Parts: sequence; structure tokens; C-alpha cells
Amino acid sequence: METTLVLLKPSTISRGLSGAVLDRFCKKGLIIAGVKMIQLTPEILSEHYAHLKDKPFFPILCESMMRTPIIALALRGVDAVEVVRAMTGVTNCRKAQPGTIRGDFGMSGQENIIHTSDSVESAAIEINRFFKPDEIFDYTPVTLPAIYGQDEI
Ligand code: UDP
Ligand code: MG
Repeated sequence: METTLVLLKPSTISRGLSGAVLDRFCKKGLIIAGVKMIQLTPEILSEHYAHLKDKPFFPILCESMMRTPIIALALRGVDAVEVVRAMTGVTNCRKAQPGTIRGDFGMSGQENIIHTSDSVESAAIEINRFFKPDEIFDYTPVTLPAIYGQDEI
């Protein structure tokens, strides 16, 4: 199984959408392997959004990501990275397909509800960025045989 990182952004927390977003992942069958509230800093954002450092919107993105604490989730499942990314939708909520989290909950390109890891490699790096090893739990929910066929896990 894979584990992927989700961040519930400050706008999601402020809008009272944290439960609705988490509910979607739980109902899908993803397992919560870790959950944590964190106040982001310029240092961690410079690492996390290093690919955007030279973009003109970088300062306002960082300001928005520090407006309130965020909720970090580590979600586990078969092909979890691809599944969670597909549930997220494209970056701009106005372009995201209805049925995706961004497509259903947002109207903005910046305030786009959640961050989700975009590859297996970045998921491993990002989980390590936001969680200590003992904050990630390896357990088997009793519901597992109802979520997957025997030969899938
Ligand atoms: N972002 C933005 N304007 C843009 C592109 C990105 O404000 O034109 C913000 C947006 O919040 C996005 C984040 O920067 O989620 C990270 O951008 P990335 O390209 O990694 O998009 P994502 O992987 O989140 O879809
Ligand atoms: Mg990204």
C-alpha cells in the first residue's frame, strides 16, 4: 500500500470544510495513517513550494498558507497517491471537474481547498516533511476485507 500527504489549507479550515473533505477520503476507503495540526512557517513553505519560488504569486500564496494552522493527513491505500490526486482535481477550482474536491468545494486557483502529493516519490518526501516517523501509524482496520478483494492487498 502507498501513503500520501494531504494538507487541508487555511481557507478550508476557516470555511468549516475540514470535516466534509475528510469524510470524502474516509468514505472512499482510504485509511488515516496520520493526522496533525501545524502552523506553517516561511521556512517550511519555501521547501514545500520550492518549484514556485520564482512565481509572482509566491508571496501571497505563502501569506495565505500561514493565515491559520493547517491540518496534515497521511492517507494509506492501494495506489493512494493516484487515487487521492484524482479525487483532488486540477489546480484551479473553477476548472476542476464536478465530483472532485476542488470542483465541488471551491471557486479559486489559489484557495483550492487541499494540497495533495503528485507522485509516489514526492509523497515520501512530503510525509517526512510534515510528520515524525512515530506520528505515522501502521494498523489494519477490521473493515479492510470489505474495502479490498483478497488478491488486491
Ligand atoms: N497556485 C496559485 N496560482 C497558480 C498556481 C498555483 O496560487 O497559478 C497555488 C495553488 O494554491 C496551488 C499551489 O500554488 O495549489 C501549488 O501549485 P501546484 O502547481 O503544485 O498545484 P497543485 O499541485 O496544488 O495542483
Ligand atoms: Mg503541487
